[in-house]
Amino acid sequence: MAEFDYICIGAGSGGIASANRAAKYGKKVALIEAKAVGGTCVNVGCVPKKAMWFGAQVAEAIHRYAPDYGFDVAVNGFDWATLVKSREAYIERIHQSYDRVLSNNDITVINGFARFVDANTVEVNGQHYSAPHITIATGGKPVRPDIPGAELGIDSDGFFALTEQPKRAVVIGAGYIGVELAGVLHALGSETHLVVRKHAPLRNFDPMLYDTLMEVMADEGPTLHTHSDPQRIERNSDGSLTVHFSHGTSIETDCLIWAIGRAPATDNLNLEAVGVERDNRGHVIVDEYSNTSVDGIYALGDILGKVDLTPVAVKAGRLLSERLFNGQTDAKMDYELIPTVVFSHPPIGTIGLSEPEAQEQYGHEEVKVYRSSFGAMYTAVTRHRQVTRMKLVCVGANERVVGLHGIGHGMDEILQGFAVAMKMGATKADFDACVAIHPTSAEEYVTMS
Ligand code: FAD
Ligand code: NDP
Repeated sequence: MAEFDYICIGAGSGGIASANRAAKYGKKVALIEAKAVGGTCVNVGCVPKKAMWFGAQVAEAIHRYAPDYGFDVAVNGFDWATLVKSREAYIERIHQSYDRVLSNNDITVINGFARFVDANTVEVNGQHYSAPHITIATGGKPVRPDIPGAELGIDSDGFFALTEQPKRAVVIGAGYIGVELAGVLHALGSETHLVVRKHAPLRNFDPMLYDTLMEVMADEGPTLHTHSDPQRIERNSDGSLTVHFSHGTSIETDCLIWAIGRAPATDNLNLEAVGVERDNRGHVIVDEYSNTSVDGIYALGDILGKVDLTPVAVKAGRLLSERLFNGQTDAKMDYELIPTVVFSHPPIGTIGLSEPEAQEQYGHEEVKVYRSSFGAMYTAVTRHRQVTRMKLVCVGANERVVGLHGIGHGMDEILQGFAVAMKMGATKADFDACVAIHPTSAEEYVTMS
């Protein structure tokens, strides 16, 4: 039996961050990974997605905006395989860099599925490894609906495995992944349909965001289908698929992508044997310090089903190691005011309470909302104008900013700094006290009246 001070199960965003931080304090650490180091984010999530989104930005620049900027561009084609090759080469360089850091930190990387034997021991490929502290950071996996023909579609993992561009694509799902993948496919030239079962994609975000997204989609694509519930999928004789909806309509496509959510990856862990408690959806239950119901076993990242974002997993992982190995006994993850971006077309940036949430929490009379709507300058000098909309949600007499939302060109890079101000408790007056940077979109946040 090999003995360690600390074992992390899952070398994704959370596991790697926690392992590296523990090693920094001289701990003997093992990191167990069933597939590829880097986890979802690096291999089938944020990184390849953002590379595809950048590819989509290039396509939009060439086709929509270049002519009015005076470029007479002759495009001889777009090769999906080249983009995928460049993307995967970049990911390979990330792998090499991760391997270097883990090796410099003397972390033992073990390949295979970890399975609990007891609270301090896991088994991988027949070998036993023990530690007084074990963290579960095994993330999540895409789910599919239980309808006939669901297996004929692919999921986000399958999207990143595509070596050829589908001519036609149907993306089903109303969350981040559905919106992002449909936007990328459309911009790169696939005839794309985004299908959601309710009135809007991203319907839990501030209404300004999804209303504007739908307005832009109506103008630029992809084709959005609301109130559409998939009922069954069938394979046609030419290899294409037909997606049938419950209200009787159907769409024929070459590629169907399920983006209807993710489930916790606990299958192989044998959690029942050690008594780690889970909720009714299978997510591991922890207290605010990442402690599970079993002493010495912790959990963080997507396995909790709380806020499925890489920086959340990373921060929680580092804080846990600070607490366990650096005497920071009160170190714990703060889930308040987490900024997030949807890499839609145009991108969405959002933090804090939506307008309806603020009204419900504080009462209508306590909430003051400031708005701005304008044509993004990048597009305004062309015939393909695209709207930008921004909103500040403020509460109380001192107008503390509790929500900041925006959709428009550059919003992905605008949000972070404002999130710092909001974490510090900024008020509308603090925003106004800052001199604007002109001409930018961001300046609207400090000039709203
Ligand atoms: P993961 O990164 O999923 O890592 C878990 C690891 O555990 C995996 O490598 C898995 O193979 C391994 N594992 C599972 N079971 C076992 C076992 N029994 N033994 C050993 N190893 C095991 N977040 C953002 O912040 N920004 C984005 O732009 C973004 N884009 C995304 C796009 C997509 C398509 C997806 C799917 C996700 C995206 N996310 C994004 C979310 C982000 O990827 C996750 O929040 C993050 O990866 C969670 O980290 P984690 O450490 O909890 O789990
Ligand atoms: P989400 O849970 O965010 O969204 C999936 C949506 O699909 C649901 O909200 C639901 O919306 C809809 N849905 C659920 N079941 C069905 C069904 N049976 N049929 C049709 N529609 C259904 O999951 P995602 O997979 O999009 O993303 C998972 C998480 O990964 C995100 O929540 C996010 O935290 C993270 N992520 C972050 C990104 C980023 O930071 N940019 C990018 C990608 C992912 P409704 O109820 O409205 O129909």
